[in-house]
Amino acid sequence: MIVILLGPPGAGKGTQAAAISRRLGIPHVSTGDIFRANLSEGTPLGLEAKGYMAMGELVPDDLVVRLVADRLSRPDAAGGALLDGFPRTVGQAEALEDILASRGSKVDVCLLLDVPDADLLARLSGRRVCRRCGSGWHASFSPPPVDLKCPKCGGEIYQRDDDMEETVTSRLAVYRRQTRPLTDWYGAKGSLTVVHGTGTPQDVEKDIEKALSAGGAR
Ligand code: AMP
Repeated sequence: MIVILLGPPGAGKGTQAAAISRRLGIPHVSTGDIFRANLSEGTPLGLEAKGYMAMGELVPDDLVVRLVADRLSRPDAAGGALLDGFPRTVGQAEALEDILASRGSKVDVCLLLDVPDADLLARLSGRRVCRRCGSGWHASFSPPPVDLKCPKCGGEIYQRDDDMEETVTSRLAVYRRQTRPLTDWYGAKGSLTVVHGTGTPQDVEKDIEKALSAGGAR
């Protein structure tokens, strides 16, 4: 089963993706996480993506598409995957169709996590995450421990460079211009399901479960 999790930066995709991937037993593939891991290891891929990420811009389609094609060809993705942060352009969505068609597969559902623009800036600029396990906090609504040590894994809790206010504004503009058109694209194909992302993470998770069950997922 191929599930796409679509939504603006700060909609809570990472948090929900972990829960969905556990529930459906498919790997969570986050292109942003893959780029960040490559960046911290200083790989050629990380170096190529670095400038785009720092500006809040999208990494070129061909690079991202190659990375996803490679990831989906691994054995653990034979039964499907949950794609988080990909596709982000219509060109990426078309390329994904080709990759999947070549394996006799297709996108089963595209879940749009919808959060009003007004909430996103506050969510993103206060966001703090664990460098190791990806768990999240918010500087005002759910502050991390003062020693900035993750209670779940002991990793360091930090603020992503691209969550600084200047970059957040440009990431939101990039989303509106390049990624939001995908909602119409998947809508026209009949595979779009909208879930409101404004409740607690637990409420949103329940709504996603309902949406997936209604769509025939386990
Ligand atoms: P994310 O964690 O999904 O917000 O991604 C962080 C950054 O990685 C983005 O702002 C982009 O620079 C880059 N990135 C992640 N996924 C993609 C994608 N599908 N297409 C282009 N750039 C991406």
